[in-house]
Formats: sequence, C-alpha cells, structure tokens
Amino acid sequence: QIGSQAVDKKVDSVCPFCGVGCLLTYNVKDNTIVSVDGRDGPANHGRLCVKGRFGFDYAHHEQRLTTPLIRKPGVPKDPAALTGRSGDWRAVFREATWDEALTLAAGKLKDLRDGHGKKALAGFGSAKGSNEEAYLFQKLVRTGFGSNNVDHCTRLCHASSVAALLEGVGSGAVSNQVSDVALAGLILVIGSNPTANHPVAATWMKNAAKNGTKIVLADPRVTDLGKHAWRTLQFKADTDVAMLNALIHTVIEEGLVDEEFIRTRASNFEALRDNVKGYSPEAMAPICGIPAQTLREVAREYARPSGTRKGAMILWGMGISQHVHGTDNARCLIALASVTGQIGKPGTGLHPLRGQNNVQGASDAGLIPMMFPNYQLVSDRAAHQWFENFWGQPLDDQPGYTVVEIMHKVLAPESDPHKIRGMYIMGENPAMSDPDLNHARHALASLEHLVVQDIFMTETAWLADVVLPATAWPEKTGTVSNTDRMVQLGRQAIEPPGDARPDLWIIQQIANRMGLNWNYVDAGPPPGAVAPSGGSAAHAVASVGASSSGEHSGVAAVYEEMRQAMHAAISGITWERLQRESSVTYPCQGADDPGQPTVFIDRFDTPDGRVKLVPADIIPANERPDADYPFVLITGRQLEHWHTGSMTRRASVLDAIEPMATASMCGADLTALRLQAGDVITVQSRRGAVALHVRRDDGTPQGAVFIPFAYYEAAANLMTNAALDPVGKIPEFKYCAVAVRRGGDV
Ligand code: SF4
Repeated sequence: QIGSQAVDKKVDSVCPFCGVGCLLTYNVKDNTIVSVDGRDGPANHGRLCVKGRFGFDYAHHEQRLTTPLIRKPGVPKDPAALTGRSGDWRAVFREATWDEALTLAAGKLKDLRDGHGKKALAGFGSAKGSNEEAYLFQKLVRTGFGSNNVDHCTRLCHASSVAALLEGVGSGAVSNQVSDVALAGLILVIGSNPTANHPVAATWMKNAAKNGTKIVLADPRVTDLGKHAWRTLQFKADTDVAMLNALIHTVIEEGLVDEEFIRTRASNFEALRDNVKGYSPEAMAPICGIPAQTLREVAREYARPSGTRKGAMILWGMGISQHVHGTDNARCLIALASVTGQIGKPGTGLHPLRGQNNVQGASDAGLIPMMFPNYQLVSDRAAHQWFENFWGQPLDDQPGYTVVEIMHKVLAPESDPHKIRGMYIMGENPAMSDPDLNHARHALASLEHLVVQDIFMTETAWLADVVLPATAWPEKTGTVSNTDRMVQLGRQAIEPPGDARPDLWIIQQIANRMGLNWNYVDAGPPPGAVAPSGGSAAHAVASVGASSSGEHSGVAAVYEEMRQAMHAAISGITWERLQRESSVTYPCQGADDPGQPTVFIDRFDTPDGRVKLVPADIIPANERPDADYPFVLITGRQLEHWHTGSMTRRASVLDAIEPMATASMCGADLTALRLQAGDVITVQSRRGAVALHVRRDDGTPQGAVFIPFAYYEAAANLMTNAALDPVGKIPEFKYCAVAVRRGGDV
C-alpha cells in the first residue's frame, strides 16, 4: 500500500491518454511514480479508468531512449526489418552527443530546404504533447521550414468532423460538455465505444441512464454501453447517411421541427428538406438494417424527449469520422440537431468525443496545414498578414499537405516541385498509425532525411536518420485541452532519464540551427554534455512552470505567446490563472470569465451567425467486400491500450491484462468458418495481412472483423485503405474488404 508517508511528493497533473482529461495526482518516491490517484477535476471528479490509474510505469521502462542516436553509415532503412520493440538498436544506430545529433538533424533539413525549396520539408507534431509544444512545432514549420506542411493525428481522427463543424457552426470544438448528459432527456451515442475509449465519460453516461436519460447507441458494433441503452441501432456498416437522413426525414415529415429556430437561426433548410424527401425510414430500412418503425420512434424521442428533461444531445466518435463520407456523416448530425432546435442550450448539442489527450489543443494551436492557431485560414489575407507581423517572418499562404498526402508526396517523382524529401516527426508513430502501412513505411524509408523525436524506439524511429530522446508527460510541465474545451495544467513530477531532454528545448534547438533566433527555453547543459538527473534544461522548464512571478520564460512564455495568437478564445486564461485553477473552460475572454460550457446560445460562429444546413447523399465505401475479400475490417481501440501501443504496451498492468493482438468476430461467423475462440487466423486485404488469435464477440456484426491497431506484431493498418474523405482528408479506417482464413504464423 502506498500511503502518504511512503512517498516523497505528490504532484498534480492530467492523465496522458484520452480526451476526457481526467485530473490526477502522481505519487512519487525516489524519482519513480509509485501510484496514481484521481483528483477532483471537472471532467472526472476523482474517477480514473484503468489506463489513468495503472498505465504510468511506461515512463520508467527500460526501453526509454536516453541518448541521441544517429544511423550508422550504410545501414539501410528497411521497412521489412521492423522486427518488434525489443530489437537491439545498436546494430542500426550509434550514440551521439546532443550537439552532433542536432547539428546533423537540423543541418540536413536546412540543406534540403535551401536546395530544393520550402515545400521539400514537412513535420508531424503530436496530440500527445502539450499545447506549447504543438504551438512551437507549427511555428517552426511555418517560419523555419517555410511552408504549411504540418499536421498531426487529428487527420486520422476527427478531421472530417471538424470540417463539417467549421462549415456548419463555425467552430470545430464541442458545443456542450460531457457532463451535460445528466441534463439531457436523450443522448444519441453514434460511432463511438465510450466504455473503451472515453471510459470515465462513459460512467457519466451510465449514471445519467440510471437517472432517466434515454441512451440511443447507434453503431455497427454493439458495445458495452448497449447494456444501458434505451434503443440500440446496430446499423449496417457504411450506411450512416442513409440512417441519419431517415431520422431527419421523419422529423420534417412528422412536423417535429423547431420552426422558430429554423426561421431565425438556420440557413439552407429548404435544400436539406428537399434532399431528405427520398430518405423515408421505409426506404432506408433495408439499406441500413434498422426497422422503419424503430427509426421513427428514435427520431420522435430525439426531437421531443418524453421525460421531464427535454434536451437531446449527440456524442460521436470515429465510427462517424473515419469514412470517405465522414464529413457527410457529421453534416447529418449537425442538421439533425439543428432542425429540432437541440443545440444552443444546456443538455443539448454536438459533442465529437476527442480521442487523444490533446488533439483538441494541438488543433487549436495550429498544428494543421490549412490554419494558423485558432483556426485562422492560412489563405485568409488578414490572418496571413497578422501572423507575418506577429512572428516577423514571411509565411506561405497556400495550405500544406495533410498526413496521407505527405506520404504520397514523399514518393512523388523527382520532377515534382512539391516532392517532400525531409521530415521532422515529434511524438507520432505513422509507421503504425497511417493507413496502408506498407506504403507509409516505404515512404518514410524513402525520405532523404528523417528526424524522429520520441521517448521510445517506435516503428517510425527505426526508419530515422537521427533519433532525439524526449520527455514523457510526467517529466514536463505544460497545458493540454480536453474534449470539453478545458485548458488544463500538467505539472512535472519526475526527472527524465539519462540525457533525454524537454521537447520544447529540442524544438528550439532545431529552430535556431535552421536560422531562427528563439529564446523561450534556457540553453541547458553545454551541447554534448550528459545532463545529470535533474539536468538544468529540464529544470529550466519545470521551475518556470512552477513560478508565479509573472516573469515569463520557458513553457510559460510559449503559452503566453500562444494565448495572444489565439486572440479572444483563451484570452482570459493566463498562465497564473492555470496555476491557481488547474482547469479553465474556453471560450474565456477575461480574468473573471468562468468560461462558457455551452456555446451557440445566441448565435453560431459562422459569418452570418446561422447554422448552415448541408444536405448529404449516400457515398459508398471506397472498397466493398467481394468474393475474394468477403469480410469488412473495422479497426479501433480497446480499453487497455492506447493508439499504437508505444506507451500502454510498456505499462506492466495494462500489458498483463491484454498482452496480445486479437481479432473479434461473432459466433455465427466463427461457426461458418469452423473456428473456435482462441484459434489463429490470418486476415488479409489487398494491401497486407496479419496473423493473430480470434476472440468471440457477438457485438461484432456478422461479416465483419474488428482489430485494434495497437499491436506492432499484428499491425491492423497493414490492411487498411488510404482512400480519403475529400473534405476532411481522413482515411477510411472503419471500412475495407478482407479475407479471413484459419491458421497463420503468430
Ligand atoms: Fe485517462 Fe481517459 Fe481514462 Fe480519464 S478516461 S483516466 S483521461 S484514459
């Protein structure tokens, strides 16, 4: 038992995993986290899930990177040689001093920029880092690399939701916070498995259901929340638009629209009305697999909940966004909420459940190729001029390439003036997270120069020229923004191992060696020196982060600059306020402003202040099952493991609970294939194959296979399809065709 006497210190921070943003306390003894407690944060009120409570010892794992590494001369970058996480990097890399590694990392990027032009470089930042790191990274790419070729995993997550929200309501963030589920008469949870992916949020949903809120769970997979649902809509995968248009059709046909809301606060209603005329529940039932009567019943209850609470709220996940029609899916949700007037009040609204702990903040900070901080378009003349003045550098006014587009541009012919030749990747693992991994890994291996900054030798780092050892979340101070639009402060609890350095320090070092002149972070130990435990670079950031003097340097200086760049959005959230309050909701425009948990009360953030209703029609998945590949592959996450597994699979408790990759199939399919739970199967698409054990899950629909993408030894994304939603540029992770056969080499 770890009692308060047993630890040296208790440090308040934020969970580093999902977008719920639970506040927690690290209990530290001898520079080691020995346990974690939940604390009374606005999103969790003391609750933590298994990842937050037990997923902390990855920070102390023996495989942490502790010194800069440089690829040995003549060692090829062979994607086929990614042999797993315990491989010995000494055959591929040699240890280097920081000065040597940074000089090579930045020098070659600079050479490529100067020799081939500003489009020759790109950078991936991370939704796992802080807001300050995201802000500084995108500023480096825009002012140092000279283009907008900067992106991060929002492109793989909710980019289509954000595209639809910006178009429809003028803001990509949620309209209402998760806690509003307790105020709603009905919540529609669609394309989301919150029990696994937003576990503490799911507990609030279950509590609400206990108190009378009706849950409608709509998903091709029936997951745990279905036990608490009033209605479960197990619709056929890929038929979201058909089903949602049927709900909108019903609302309009049965006179359930909010006419006053439509007249005063919406635009383009006539086009929406005309479009859904052909989408009656009776016509759509055979397509989506939900009886017409059920669709009508759900539409009525959503529009006018029958209990005492009259609001209805929509929460969605990547089952909505990760399709070639992801933007259309989200457009339908916006339209459904708007025509019924179920937005702009507590207990209503639109909530795309953000995945990573800081995917909201990283996007807000400008870590996306088409927008500066706070979603100001790079192509907007006024915004462009403002940032040129603010940063004192000429800026590109053309949107950059997105994650998957960047991989294509790496493999572009030599004659392409936009061919990408060098990349800087901080804290992301595209060699596991991108679709069609053989293509993505081939692209990464083909780069003339790849710099990877991370805490472990990820699959991406194996393909790097230079690897820079960075700090884990408990080793730094910084802010993250959760799915509820809460900016939250994490405080440094432990010192980094060996010669690992703070990410802000590393970004600044790269920037200055590419010709910029930044002084946010103290220089730290002399280049090439090995920092002792508690090295001055780490202290420079941490001690300033803990300061309340108002003399801003280090992380606080970056935060304050970002606050200015984001204008009114977080103007009332100063560094000093965060030190006092730990968590503040935005928009927040003044020192006394408590922040706005509900937005769009009077007007939307669109130019005319109205929600824009955008009709959507059925667009089929890019790759449908056929005789050769008769099953649908659905990828996703599971409760114990996070994204590409680089952290949670090195967390001892989590790894002990879920140690190996499995594929989920329903009993009927197992019987048809003469399989039993536990058998080894091979799942194969046109792009790749994996072998793994199969588990029985009758929530997985017949004809489908579900595989989490956290396992390098059975990487689900070897099989996924890189086809993109044309607006959000998000890949179709939730649907591609595969074959399943018994046996394989695990
Ligand atoms: Fe962390 Fe999310 Fe779990 Fe909360 S629900 S403890 S933020 S992983």
